[in-house]
Amino acid sequence: MPVREVFRLLEAEGLVELRPHRGVVVTELDEDEALEIFETRVALEILAVRRSFPRLTDEQVKAIETAHETLRNAVPKHSADLHRDFHVSLYAGAGPRLRRLVSEQLDAAQRYHLRFGRLAMEVTQQDRDDHVSLAAAAVKRNTREAVKILRAHLSRGAAEITKSIESHKKKTAKSAVEQG
Ligand SMILES: [Zn+2]
Repeated sequence: MPVREVFRLLEAEGLVELRPHRGVVVTELDEDEALEIFETRVALEILAVRRSFPRLTDEQVKAIETAHETLRNAVPKHSADLHRDFHVSLYAGAGPRLRRLVSEQLDAAQRYHLRFGRLAMEVTQQDRDDHVSLAAAAVKRNTREAVKILRAHLSRGAAEITKSIESHKKKTAKSAVEQG
């Protein structure tokens, strides 16, 4: 693959900016932008689950259960994409516009995970319990229960990302000092 093509792909992912006369610049990702992405994500996912659950077909519920099983059996290396797939499966009944918006936010969030390491992508035992409850709520089309679980589930993610950005900043500051 030609180098220009690679840069174009990285640009599409938001990881670099191609600037005329300056070449390739690594995109700055700041904490406030990270929080904006996560707050948007929480709002959209909650809206999506509210719209989706009352409209879920039996096939869509089956797809949620399958996505959940796949995530549960996944090796950690693949769990980030499968985690995303599981969340997207919950919004199958939400409608194409909302699904697209949620997907965009999930991709934006993914860029932070790429930059700040895997810490925030680790699925904890609490996350696993949340996923079990979310899949069970889908079977019962229990929107109220799903909203409650999702709100707590996603806020923990936002707290994790803030923490990992802070520790990343400290590390960067420390190595700048060490390099004098
Ligand atoms: Zn999750």
